[in-house]
Amino acid sequence: MRLASRLLAGSLIVVTALVAAIVLIAGSRLHARLLEEKTDELSRAARVVAAHWSPGIDADSLAHTDGAALGYRVTLIDSAGNVVGDAEFSPDARRRLENHATRPEIIAARASGIGSALRQSASAGDEELYVAVRHPLGFTRVSITTARLESVVNGAQRDVLASGLVALGGALILALFFARSISQPVVELRDVARAIAGGDLSRRPALSAPGEIGDLATALQRMTEQLATRVAALQEDDLLMIALIESLEEGVLALDDRGTVVRINERGRALLNVQTPLPIAPEHLPREHAVRAAIADALAGEATAPQEMTLFDRTVTVSARPLPTAGAVVTILDLTMLRRLETIRRDFVANVSHELKTPLTVVSGYAETLLDEGIPTEQRRKFVKTIRDNAMRMQRIVDELLDLSRIESGGWRPKLATVDVTGVVSDVFMALQPSANGKGLTLVSDISPDAVRLTADHTAFRQVITNLVENAVRYTKEGSITLQTRRGDGGVWVDVRDTGVGIAAEHLPRIFERFYRVDAGRSREQGGTGLGLAIVRHLMEAHGGRVEAASTLGKGTTISAFFPSGKPA
Ligand code: ADP
Repeated sequence: MRLASRLLAGSLIVVTALVAAIVLIAGSRLHARLLEEKTDELSRAARVVAAHWSPGIDADSLAHTDGAALGYRVTLIDSAGNVVGDAEFSPDARRRLENHATRPEIIAARASGIGSALRQSASAGDEELYVAVRHPLGFTRVSITTARLESVVNGAQRDVLASGLVALGGALILALFFARSISQPVVELRDVARAIAGGDLSRRPALSAPGEIGDLATALQRMTEQLATRVAALQEDDLLMIALIESLEEGVLALDDRGTVVRINERGRALLNVQTPLPIAPEHLPREHAVRAAIADALAGEATAPQEMTLFDRTVTVSARPLPTAGAVVTILDLTMLRRLETIRRDFVANVSHELKTPLTVVSGYAETLLDEGIPTEQRRKFVKTIRDNAMRMQRIVDELLDLSRIESGGWRPKLATVDVTGVVSDVFMALQPSANGKGLTLVSDISPDAVRLTADHTAFRQVITNLVENAVRYTKEGSITLQTRRGDGGVWVDVRDTGVGIAAEHLPRIFERFYRVDAGRSREQGGTGLGLAIVRHLMEAHGGRVEAASTLGKGTTISAFFPSGKPA
């Protein structure tokens, strides 16, 4: 039930009870007072009748005249208790009345001079009030029926009730107003409290009332302000926390005691391959046994040491530890790059060892043979030449490796200058002409007039052109090698095109790796080290450019290097 209705009902009950009590109490008090008053009045009337009664007067006619004059029933009784006159009975009927000596009012009057009684009348039949006074001739008694008294009392009670009802109506209006004035601010406070509980911390009670309701409004206002401050602080903490875990290199996820993920960073989502919004149910996590076991252990209160495993093609370590407040935190560290680098390093060491092994074996073998003094001079000369060729080959490998590591480590920076392509190309062609001639290959230079000059490090540019043309000569049996320049978007392209063996599509993406060769035997035979294109790629990258390869097996290859136009130093 609403507060206003309760207040209204409460006040109505109180007022109704009050009116009822007033009606009842007033009724009974009035009855008693009226009875007292009437008894007094009747005793005075009885004395008046007594004054008129003297010996020799006809008692019966006195009773009738006085009774008519006073408006009461007047009864005259002799000392023996016989009714000698009665205003309401004819002489015959009176004579038949029984003796009145035992009537309570007569007994009392005989004893103390006056007596009264309220009782059922044996002769008249209704309830009457009797008052008797002692007289030398007997007793004078005056009585009235109480029905008359009752009607006065009832009338008075009706009046009280009517005014009670008017008061009730007034009280109803007042109570209504009062209930409204109390319940309205309470309703407003309730609405504000509900809004705050619903998360709207901007709501404040607009109320300013005196007394307890006003105090309540002020307290609510203060509470909301404190709440808003705390919530803001918490949100800030939360944002900081999110920023922190998002900045971690590791994947991090927090689980509640049922294994549901309640927080996860982007890295964690990527490594676990989950995109479901939070909270993430346990079944959405990868089925990997090790991951599940680590989580189960941590939830059971036991930390797990990092365990390496493959998760969606990535090498990761997963560790889980219980949280002090139930639940667990799981961290996933991505080791893919590290492991790849380790493999590259291992492969590199193996490659270098392998490259140096053959020439070293040759050198040591021939040197051994040379120790034998009986070798003819001509043969000795041949052996020494082989030793020298192999030493030079090793020298070249070591030099190229050193070049590569210098460029790779960032220790080398291109000294950018405007390079005249024609000059460098003719120099390079001149140097390589003998080997081209040896194979019957033509070297063609096709320099576009709008790409005669480009921005590059002079030495690096020469090395790139040398490596590319050298390769073209190396892997071409017949036909021609064309060096072409063309202006591209924001720079100049240098293409070296040959009509050689070509490169199968599956090898094409890898030819720029160190020591990668399509045909190691042929490369070595032709004096290749497997490092030429790797050097080209690194030099081009240091220039901010790039190198691309296109080839058709058996038809020929085109390697293109792009030099971005930059500001010469
Ligand atoms: P190499 O010293 O073996 O030539 P490179 O790094 O220069 O090493 O080249 C890597 C590999 O790419 C070569 O071994 C060869 O198989 C292939 N290659 C490079 N240039 C050409 C080309 N013009 N035609 C065919 N194959 C080529």
